[in-house]
Amino acid sequence: MSTATGARPRWVDDEGAALSAVARDFFETEVVPHLDRFDRQKHVDREVWRKAGALGLLCCEVPEEYGGGGGTFAHDAVVFSEQARSGDTGLGNSVHSGVVAPYLVAYGSEEQKARWLPGMAAGDIIGAVGMSEPGAGTDLKNVRTRATRSGDHYVLNGSKTFISNGAQCDLLIVVAKTDPAAGRDGISLLVLETAGAPGFRRGRVLDKLGMHGQDTAELFFDDVLVPAANLLGEEGAGFRMMMRDLPRERLVIAVNAVAAMERALEETITHAKTREVFGAPLFSMQHVKFELAELATVVRTSRVFLDDCVERFIAGALDPATASMAKWWLTQNQCDVTDRCLQLFGGYGYMREYLVSRLYADARAQKIYGGTNEVMKDLISRSL
Ligand SMILES: Cc1cc2nc3c(=O)[nH]c(=O)nc-3n(C[C@H](O)[C@H](O)[C@H](O)COP(=O)(O)OP(=O)(O)OC[C@H]3O[C@@H](n4cnc5c(N)ncnc54)[C@H](O)[C@@H]3O)c2cc1C
Repeated sequence: MSTATGARPRWVDDEGAALSAVARDFFETEVVPHLDRFDRQKHVDREVWRKAGALGLLCCEVPEEYGGGGGTFAHDAVVFSEQARSGDTGLGNSVHSGVVAPYLVAYGSEEQKARWLPGMAAGDIIGAVGMSEPGAGTDLKNVRTRATRSGDHYVLNGSKTFISNGAQCDLLIVVAKTDPAAGRDGISLLVLETAGAPGFRRGRVLDKLGMHGQDTAELFFDDVLVPAANLLGEEGAGFRMMMRDLPRERLVIAVNAVAAMERALEETITHAKTREVFGAPLFSMQHVKFELAELATVVRTSRVFLDDCVERFIAGALDPATASMAKWWLTQNQCDVTDRCLQLFGGYGYMREYLVSRLYADARAQKIYGGTNEVMKDLISRSL
């Protein structure tokens, strides 16, 4: 894995480095050549998920007994990094392996884990998580989706929006109110198996500023029957489970941020050294050299902070405030760096055929999802 420091991060061991090489090859050969098509169709081919699964690139941290890689967060993180470096944001593996699988591992019953995780690791089952609703994004305890117990089932009614992998998901963790009077203690997580579920409907695949190959969608539930056995953890414990897992989700976003900005910088240095203006390489201009020197500094310091956070997380010592710092600061840097890199490409930077344009547009959502950056600052301030 090549990084801004030039060295392999301490959290990447030999096995991680080997996995990184497999992942890089996979994205270069199986994904990057098809990016434009994935953008147009607004999703990646199912086959891509299956190929990733066959190569061991999905659910790397899931224990082997459930079909996963039996690794640590580091193994998933090298795969996320290689994907971000490649410029692909269509394959929703950060949600699939970085959010959904860890929820199932942490809170699923033996039966649930054995039923769903092997398919997720193989790429046969695509996972998604439905928290956001038209009236509840940041303010999650305001979700309106209702799950009412009726015998052996819950009856699910409501809707979700902005759901990554929404159009293709087979397994959806739905955040729903099981006891509307109980506030945050009335929120539960239900696992909906979407195939042929009566009353479940997928809405539009949303038109976005970037991330065009990602099937972000609206979802609707109209008296959908979910077996009571599909409750994840305890009834009413949904909010607490979500809060406990937030540092991981924020770190996944931060991992992607740093890998993407490292790639943007590399592309821009190459461009500045090869593009001629006024009979000399762009790189010979003092402004360009200074700009790149500043960007290289931002990217390097970002890498160092990220690596520290990943090491802490693997050691079980990443506190929520530091995870929030990583999320807001690294995604802010990602947006600033890709913007300044794009500028150095001139008009070419604005053209979709240039990777930097994709890196710039795709970066923007990073400041919004996973808890907005304003929320991150609010959380940090509470720790001060
Ligand atoms: C590409 C993409 C993919 C996504 N994928 C998923 C997914 O897979 N699953 C899912 O459930 N959701 C997903 N989301 C939704 C995302 O998590 C929400 O958009 C996000 O949480 C913000 O909620 P909101 O859009 O309702 O904005 P709002 O909550 O309406 O916020 C609007 C603005 O107000 C600010 N604000 C709100 N409350 C406060 C506060 N207390 N203090 C300071 N400022 C505040 C926000 O920071 C923001 O700037 C995705 C979004 C995008 C763009």
